[in-house]
Amino acid sequence: MKAVLFSEHGGTDVLRYAEAPEPVIGARDVLVRVRACALNHLDIWVRRGMPGVKIPLPHIGGCDIAGEVAKTGDAVTNFHSGNRVLLAPGVSCGQCEQCLAGKDNECRQYSLLGYMYDGGYAEYVKAPSVNAMLIPENLSFEQAAAVPLVFLTAWHMLVTRAQLKPAEEVLILGAGSGVGSAAIQIAKITGARVIATAGSESKLTKAKELGADEVILHSKQNIGEEIMRMTNCRGVDVVFEHVGQATWEQSLRSLAIGGRLVTCGATTGYEGKIDIRYLFSRNLSILGTYMGSKAELFAVLELVGREKLKPVIDCVLPLERAAEAQERLENREQFGKIVLRVP
Ligand SMILES: [Zn+2]
Repeated sequence: MKAVLFSEHGGTDVLRYAEAPEPVIGARDVLVRVRACALNHLDIWVRRGMPGVKIPLPHIGGCDIAGEVAKTGDAVTNFHSGNRVLLAPGVSCGQCEQCLAGKDNECRQYSLLGYMYDGGYAEYVKAPSVNAMLIPENLSFEQAAAVPLVFLTAWHMLVTRAQLKPAEEVLILGAGSGVGSAAIQIAKITGARVIATAGSESKLTKAKELGADEVILHSKQNIGEEIMRMTNCRGVDVVFEHVGQATWEQSLRSLAIGGRLVTCGATTGYEGKIDIRYLFSRNLSILGTYMGSKAELFAVLELVGREKLKPVIDCVLPLERAAEAQERLENREQFGKIVLRVP
């Protein structure tokens, strides 16, 4: 099969469009003929390599996958060839206390397709059948691939962890990112007042179209000051963080007394300082989150099917242009998801 793979870590020049062996499935797996695979920052971290993380090489990246079931293992009864499916990115053991409690993203063996397992930058990918989910009929493969990671992450952050309420105010950083554009829509469903930031006027316009009530141009305006102005010096109840070092202090400063900062990423750097007195005296909470459960993805898909949540696609490129697609993401040129089409 054709795939985009790399045999050493580095820049986008290590990505090769080449032949790779078709995956061999086990009894409980499905083989999926990939039709679309959306990009995530994870793809870039995995390609560059991370200290202390040993990625199996050669490697095929890509964790947001949609396609058709091509083959099923002997023990698979709930899918058959031709089913249109997307794949939940998270793979867990399915047997431990966390998995059985429905918190599979807290499983000690939790990993992702495209991370410790080969992913969707290829014509075929294998996955446990429990990861396959039928695509709502109103979605194309490209739209379906744009859903799982960002909507699941944003849902888990805002609904499950931060428990955002209708009367509350939320600050969503980086509206142009996949996770930011998903978070604006989810926050709107809860009924909260949504303040979003982005780095350009055109991205702010799009953030408003998605439902943001107020916007901040973070390349020119100070986020903390703007939040105080917009909230009558109160601050917001929830800050949706994924930017990391560049915004960490502003994010903390934007919180109201009793506020919650929920974070899923650190694309600008890992180090975040905090004055512990500020944390306790203002009754603040800092919530770390990683992905979300498979059950939550069913809730997301239900709302996508009802068109209450809409995948936001920046552009669609053919698989062999994966390097160019990753560069676009690295340069933050996108609004929403960059998707690779697999012919
Ligand atoms: Zn487990």
